[in-house]
Amino acid sequence: MRRSTLSRRRFVLGSLGLAGVVLAACGGGDDDTSTPGTSGTTATATTGGGNQAGATAAGNQPTATDTAGASSTAPTQPALENTPTNVQPVDLSPEQLQQFRPNELGQVPVLEYHQFGSPPEQFVRTPDQFRSDLQWLYDHNFVVVKLRDFLDDAIDIPAGKRPVILTFDDSHVEQFRLTPLANGQLALDPNCAIGILETFFAAHPDFGRGGVFAILPHQLFNWPNAQDQNEHGTIKVNFLLDNGYELSNHSYDHVSLAELSTDEIIYQLCAWNDWVHSIRPDAQLDSITLPYGMYPIGENGPGDDTLFRGCVYEGREYSWRCALQIGANPATPPIANTYDPYAVARIQAFDEELYKWFDVFESDPGILYVSDGNPNTVTIPNDLHPWLVDTLDESKVGSRRLVRY
Ligand SMILES: [Zn+2]
Repeated sequence: MRRSTLSRRRFVLGSLGLAGVVLAACGGGDDDTSTPGTSGTTATATTGGGNQAGATAAGNQPTATDTAGASSTAPTQPALENTPTNVQPVDLSPEQLQQFRPNELGQVPVLEYHQFGSPPEQFVRTPDQFRSDLQWLYDHNFVVVKLRDFLDDAIDIPAGKRPVILTFDDSHVEQFRLTPLANGQLALDPNCAIGILETFFAAHPDFGRGGVFAILPHQLFNWPNAQDQNEHGTIKVNFLLDNGYELSNHSYDHVSLAELSTDEIIYQLCAWNDWVHSIRPDAQLDSITLPYGMYPIGENGPGDDTLFRGCVYEGREYSWRCALQIGANPATPPIANTYDPYAVARIQAFDEELYKWFDVFESDPGILYVSDGNPNTVTIPNDLHPWLVDTLDESKVGSRRLVRY
C-alpha cells in the first residue's frame, strides 16, 4: 500500500486551491491523535475560506497551540504525541479507577449511516435524528475516534471516555453537499452529515473528530440526483482527508464481492484505491467496507478474505488492514483473542437497532471499552462482563503495562 509523508500531504493540500470553499476547518488532520483543535468556526461560516483551509494543513501536528486553541500559548512548548491534554499520563489512583471504571478489553461501537433525509427508514436518518445521536453519544461519555487508532490499538482519549467510530456508506449527497454562494465561494450545507458533524465538533471540542466514508467513484456525493455536485467531488475528498476523516474501499462499482471472480474482485478493490490515489496520492486506505456485507467466495469458500490481506494488480501490491461488516453488534477490540480485523462488526444506525444498543450501553456498560487515559497502560477490571471473560490476548499488551483492578 502506498503511503507518503505528512509533508507530501501538506504540499498537495496547499496546491489544490481550497480557498473557494467556505467550510469549517477545525484542525486535526488524520495523523492528529491529540485533542481536536478548538479554533474552528461553524460550518456555516461566511468568511475566511483559504486561510482556514491553510490552518487545517498546519493543524496536522498536535501542537500546544492546537490544544489551547489560542495563539497566546508559548510557541516553544514542544508538541506531544498521543497525549490529549499535553500532560504526562500518570497511573490512576484506586479512587479514580472506581470513578472511571476503565475497561480496555471492552467493545467499541462502530455506527453505520447511509442516507440522510426524510422520512426516516432503515437506511435514512433525518438530520435531527443524527444530531440527537451525536448528542446522546456525547452525553454518555463517548468520544469519536479514528478507525486507524482502533486498528492500531492506540485509542487515546481521556480516562473514563468511551470510543465510538462513525461510518458513512455510499457517498450519498446528503452526506456532503456544497452550495455555491453569490461570491463564487462554496458553503457547506449545515443539514448534510458533514455539516452536522462539523457544527457538533466545533461546539464540543472534547468529542473528538472523525468519520469513515465508504465512497464510490460513480456517485461521489451526488447520488441520487444531485448532478450539480459533480464538480465538487475532488474538493470533498480533499476536505475529508484534511480534516481528520478517513476513506474506505467500497469497491469501484459497488458490487457484491460474492458474485465476482478473483480477477474481478482484485479489479474492484484495486481500481478503487487507484482512483482515490489519483486524487490524493498520500491517502491512507486502511479498510474495506464490504458492499452488501458480502465476502468473496474464494478457494476457501464463503467468507474468504485472502485477497484483502494482499493481492497484485497490474504489477503493484495492494492490501487492506480490515474489513467492515454490515451488522450487528459492537466491535471486538484488537487486544482480544477473538479479534478478527477482517470481520469488524458495525451497528446500523436506524431507530430499532441503534436504540436497542444505546439501551444496552446504558443498562450494561461493562461490555464497553472505557479508556484509562494512559497510552502506556492497559487497564482491565477483574470483574469482567461475561462477554469479555478470558478474551484478553496478553501477547498483544506489548510494551504497555497491564493494570488489573
Ligand atoms: Zn454500499
